[in-house]
Amino acid sequence: MELSRRGFLKATTIGGAIALGFDLTKARAEMREFKISRTTETRSICPYCAVSCGVIIHTLGDRSKNATSSVVHIEGDPDHPISRGSLCPKGITLKDDINNKNRLTAPRVRRPGSDRWEEISWNDAVAGIARHIKDTRDRCFVAKNAAGQVVNRNPGMAMIGGCTDTNEFNFLQWKAITGLGVPYRDTQARV
Ligand code: SF4
Repeated sequence: MELSRRGFLKATTIGGAIALGFDLTKARAEMREFKISRTTETRSICPYCAVSCGVIIHTLGDRSKNATSSVVHIEGDPDHPISRGSLCPKGITLKDDINNKNRLTAPRVRRPGSDRWEEISWNDAVAGIARHIKDTRDRCFVAKNAAGQVVNRNPGMAMIGGCTDTNEFNFLQWKAITGLGVPYRDTQARV
């Protein structure tokens, strides 16, 4: 029988451990325990799709002075009612997305007529959004329809929630935009 190098290593390592009676489960559990022993756990939701699986994000260094915090491990949240600890192959790579040096961490705006995106502060972003909302509402608000019935709607705006928004958050944001008369609404997630 031809035995490849890979096959030989597999047979001697895995087979050897079983043949000699080693149980590696405990060693693996301790390796994992060591990796997350000093981390801060933050519960969140995978941002990639509308399934909205629960994740636990392990961060190192965010409780220390003079240390730059970093995300060192992400796993499925076993207490999450939708996913119960599971993550698909895309969700399990979330750590690389968070640590990616190309990740945007500040708002950007592309001004009318410009061919580039400009980084702005969060305060300027919020002020700019508020200005656009007010101007659009003033321009588009319809108090009565053609039959003279009161409709109080603003067809110039639409609202869509992100996939990490919970039902409770969506409930509140829909109440807020109802006050603006926004008729077109949806959320990505059903969490
Ligand atoms: S882990 Fe996968 S299935 Fe779950 S929300 Fe993320 S991308 Fe969607």
